[in-house]
Amino acid sequence: MRKIKYSNSPALWMTRNDFINERGIPLSFSRNHLFLWDIYRDLNPRQVLKKAAQIGASVMLNLKSFFLCKYKGFDIIYTMPSDNDVYEFVRTKTDKIFMSNPNLRKDIKIDNVGLKGVGDRFIYFKGTRSKTAPLSTTADLLIHDEIDRSDLTIIEQYASRIGASKYKGIWMASNPSMSNVGVDIMWKDSDQKEWFIICRGCGLEQQLIWDENVDEIRRIYVCKGCGKELTPEERRSGRWIATKPGAEISGYHISQMMAAWLSAKDLVKEKEKRGLEYFLNFVLGEPYQVGTMTDFRQMILDCYTTKTLSKGPYYLGVDIGIEKHYVVGTEEEIFEVGRVRTRRELEHIIERYNPTTVFDAGPERTWVEEFREKYPNTYLCFFGSDKHKKEIVKWGGMSGNKEDTKNVGYVWVDRNRLIDLLINEILSGRMLFKLQTDPMERYVKHWQTMRRIEEPTALGNKRYKWDSTTGEDHWVMATVYYWLAKMKGSGKTEFIPDSAEKREVIERTSEGFRMRSLKEVLEEMKEY
Ligand SMILES: [Zn+2]
Repeated sequence: MRKIKYSNSPALWMTRNDFINERGIPLSFSRNHLFLWDIYRDLNPRQVLKKAAQIGASVMLNLKSFFLCKYKGFDIIYTMPSDNDVYEFVRTKTDKIFMSNPNLRKDIKIDNVGLKGVGDRFIYFKGTRSKTAPLSTTADLLIHDEIDRSDLTIIEQYASRIGASKYKGIWMASNPSMSNVGVDIMWKDSDQKEWFIICRGCGLEQQLIWDENVDEIRRIYVCKGCGKELTPEERRSGRWIATKPGAEISGYHISQMMAAWLSAKDLVKEKEKRGLEYFLNFVLGEPYQVGTMTDFRQMILDCYTTKTLSKGPYYLGVDIGIEKHYVVGTEEEIFEVGRVRTRRELEHIIERYNPTTVFDAGPERTWVEEFREKYPNTYLCFFGSDKHKKEIVKWGGMSGNKEDTKNVGYVWVDRNRLIDLLINEILSGRMLFKLQTDPMERYVKHWQTMRRIEEPTALGNKRYKWDSTTGEDHWVMATVYYWLAKMKGSGKTEFIPDSAEKREVIERTSEGFRMRSLKEVLEEMKEY
């Protein structure tokens, strides 16, 4: 009998080795996790998982990373939202999986939280919200886990890290958040595989859809053809079918409806207990539509803080019109919003805070150019998505990862996508407001005019834009500029060139964890 080489199939490799998960349970596809089998086998360089919570995706991504290092000689950058997430994830998932499986452990040559050496290859774990710059190492595969909670402007920058690789892999996985943000963008460009199951009553093959397959009153799964109750066995034995076949990106949508170990009753309870947004994102693995569901007033009030004012550095965003609307804040919070009429008044604000400033370049170009020349750390923002299609934010003065003398002091922005990201940032509690009641109410009013409008394009596709019902969206735009200033000022906008790279990795020690230079760690490795 011919022996099948498992070095070509992570799925085969897994089952042959009888790996167990981080809780010590054997990973078997024969029953509950059948829907993961094909995803384990998939080695397409572009993959996206739009997923519910608790379905085994992290274990899978860990094992596939290990497999690709060992058998394909890949270097991998694995990102999580923050360094803290990396720490938690590696400690509670990755390390436990490696520890429980001697066949994995024996190949681990270097072992700390930020870096795993598998043979002579590496898996780098890194938070996108980090005090240190993004990794400037090159890689064959980027795995962006929990992308919707990550800093998406940093994620974009990582794309340049795989240029030298033949494989050029990008895999994204996340619970979705809003429509057209994060994982949902790549999902829409993918072949959109859904899990289809067959009813043993009438034989109808169907995709599991909440509104059609769940009887919420009886709390059972039903066939949408004949109404028969669907058994866990019927839900378990399905197959993936591409609903948009032919797309290059391989996409999977995993909902908890496929999880045979969860009943309809369990899911209905979650829906009642947790509210619709949570239910969509974490149970059904679906994004929600912002603009239809977001209550902007509540969104801002939820981010109200009474914390004592943190010290500078300060960031300022200014929307230019007859009146100049501005937003001032620190790294943590917005603490002043206001409007002025004259140039002198604006100068006062700048002189008081010495901030990094982003101005709207639009209506008063000459005027703002004078500001840019007068004050350091001042940038002008232009909107336009045509020239820089792929990037949401493009700073002048940078060419790739290198400094460039052209266009210093300018930034180009895809307005609609950046507003999506900003809303996501606020909804995730990462932008706080410490404002008095009156200015807060005036500020909120501008948000409440925001609507997301769909419009057809010349090619017949749909696109959307953010619009204000009254045109009074100045503080929203000033907040966009403030956010840009914060990105620029906190130095999170560029990579350190390779030559100057002083990478650090997080290392776990008996006393906790610390940062250590990668160079040092690599030196030590040679002693093995
Ligand atoms: Zn049926």
